[in-house]
Amino acid sequence: MSNENATVEREQRSTTTDDVLVSVRDLKKHYGADSLLSDDPVKAVDGVSFDIHRGETLGLVGESGCGKTTLGRTLVRLETATSGDVQFGDTDITTLSGRELKQWRRNAQMVFQDPDSSLNERMTVGELIRDPLDVHDWKTKAKRDERVRELLEKVGLSEKHYFRYPHQFSGGQRQRIGIARALALEPDFLVLDEPVSALDVSVQAKILNLLRDLQEDLGLTYLLIAHDLSVVRHLADRVAVMYLGHIMELGETERLFESPSNPYTHSLLSAIPEPDPYAETDRITLRGAPPSPRNPPEGCPFSTRCPMKIRPEEYRSVDDDAWRAIEELREILRERVRTDRSITVIARELLGLETRISDIDEITEEVFGDVELPPELATHVDRVVEDVSDGNPEDARRYLKREVGGPCDTDDPDYYTVDDEGRSSYCHRHAPEYESPAATLDSE
Ligand code: SF4
Repeated sequence: MSNENATVEREQRSTTTDDVLVSVRDLKKHYGADSLLSDDPVKAVDGVSFDIHRGETLGLVGESGCGKTTLGRTLVRLETATSGDVQFGDTDITTLSGRELKQWRRNAQMVFQDPDSSLNERMTVGELIRDPLDVHDWKTKAKRDERVRELLEKVGLSEKHYFRYPHQFSGGQRQRIGIARALALEPDFLVLDEPVSALDVSVQAKILNLLRDLQEDLGLTYLLIAHDLSVVRHLADRVAVMYLGHIMELGETERLFESPSNPYTHSLLSAIPEPDPYAETDRITLRGAPPSPRNPPEGCPFSTRCPMKIRPEEYRSVDDDAWRAIEELREILRERVRTDRSITVIARELLGLETRISDIDEITEEVFGDVELPPELATHVDRVVEDVSDGNPEDARRYLKREVGGPCDTDDPDYYTVDDEGRSSYCHRHAPEYESPAATLDSE
């Protein structure tokens, strides 16, 4: 389907998506807070709030490890929230247990990424789809068998598949079995966790079309988790962009893809390959990998990699290359303090260096090269070299943060509404005192 047609269809559907089915408020899922190995919890999901409207598809995108699967699993209670609310109709499902939880599970199911590992090879297809009905003691045995046959047909299989085993099916057919199983108890809400990423490209479109048809037929509501942005653009009404346990931007799909507002969304979308090799693009290459969710940065979670990070007033006129080098040095120090690896190994990894640098003098030589630093910044770098040479990288990190850090390093951003459709973006740059992300791009 073309993007234009997809937009028209979304607009038609949006007239029926006014009521909220799932309401998430300040949801956190932290792991291992009480681990013997470390006091620091892994903050997989770290305070997200959003609504999912009845009948809509909300896409959830972000780099691997950003917390999107954990968030999806927490919404269907495969994980227990650390704090926050998930309101499903009138029920806060984070507080359910025992019989109440079992009863509620009928309403929300998950379709998994890998159909191979989510289907028990020793059960026939009929048994697999009937299993949730048996567990919930759904009506009579005859009705359950009838329901299984109906579901087989609904997902594009047939009655004759009832007594076959999963290994006798292709990847696409196995995902159809997974979808039938998820639909068995007539849920309102499905979390689709990378539902087509394990499938051949030729099969992906068929499964996506099946999911869209089922949504229309049955009035389903989806949370669609995918790293493939084209899948999300094809199916989702709105998109949430996630980074390091936070939602950075959430808005209507086509608008967000056409004109991203948050610096992280800019970076993520600019990484999509451009079909026309001669087309001009504002491609942004991100430095390094996301920080560990066990040790996220203070302030904005994207602050260690953001190409639009706000500088302190006194350094706004510093040459971009010089400032980029200062940020690279800060990242090397941050990693050194976080891990126990040597500073030269970290520098080689982060900077992609092949040279055999061996100490902090050589690292600063590599990082700053021919870049001319203003005297004040040169003094700061000298102090860092001194601290690291004395075996105090943490002092060096703190010193540099104090001297050259800005609001992105210290303060959590607010969510700002950035268009007339209620799109929200989590970034200091939307505050009136700073240049907006769009203006920052234009001025580059
Ligand atoms: S708050 Fe700062 S670091 Fe975060 S996205 Fe905005 S400009 Fe970048």
